[in-house]
Amino acid sequence: MMLNKMKGGLFGVAIGDALGGTTEFMSKEEIIHKYGRVTDIIGGGCWDLIPGETTDDTAMTLAVAKGIIANPNEPIEEIGREFFKWFKTNPKDVGITIRTVFENYEEDWFEAAKNVHDLLGGKSAGNGSLMRCLPIALAYSEKKKIDELTILQSKMTHYDDIASEAGAIYNHIAYRLLKGEDLRTSINLETKGTNYEATLDSVPDCRPDGYVVNTMRWVLYWLLTSDTFEEVVVGAANMGDDSDTIAAIAGGLKGIEVGFNEIPEKYINKLVDRELLAQMSNALYDIRDNK
Ligand SMILES: [Mg+2]
Repeated sequence: MMLNKMKGGLFGVAIGDALGGTTEFMSKEEIIHKYGRVTDIIGGGCWDLIPGETTDDTAMTLAVAKGIIANPNEPIEEIGREFFKWFKTNPKDVGITIRTVFENYEEDWFEAAKNVHDLLGGKSAGNGSLMRCLPIALAYSEKKKIDELTILQSKMTHYDDIASEAGAIYNHIAYRLLKGEDLRTSINLETKGTNYEATLDSVPDCRPDGYVVNTMRWVLYWLLTSDTFEEVVVGAANMGDDSDTIAAIAGGLKGIEVGFNEIPEKYINKLVDRELLAQMSNALYDIRDNK
């Protein structure tokens, strides 16, 4: 049961990423013109993906997972090592904040993130630390530990508190879903008293772009207005802009809620990394103490 949910979360991220990778940076109108509606994992897009290939969202999520698995008690250093391993593969799609942090890293992630924040004119609230943080909620059952690590892993690259706040809210929702709580209730409870509360009931009046607040608003919108896993990820994918990341983030939570067994096989079977994702889910499950 718990493994089914955890696996649903990790596969949810990858499926959202693979689906949205096709439409990233396109406008809604361009998507309609070119594809009608994207409902299957077909690859292509600006990264020229093969069908089932995923992008930085999944790669960095797996990096966080691997770091946790390498040293569950003190994972931050290992997570950093995994980030570098990934960066050295010369990935085609590294976000601006994260790329700049890699370029400015000397020996301390937090220092590099602060310098990059200044270098980018105080703009470090991208969605790059939110998109990768889910494995923390999967591996740990203690809320205090989830908070601490979610914020730390965010601060490794994104100095802005707005970025770590989004991650903390996201992983709090995941924490509740893993305990079997309802998605809508979890969202309402965890956004209470935050800036997200006021706009939950309306269509976001912002672009679905890489600014973490806009990303989070669209993620919550798809989660609150869709019934099925497919509706969540397809909805986000067909909006374009930062569609892969938004579909990945939303897909992660919806995947936990419905569980791996309820995710359409047509998506799972397409994923190039499905073996690795299953392996990582099992390894995170082994670490988790409260099942
Ligand atoms: Mg991406």
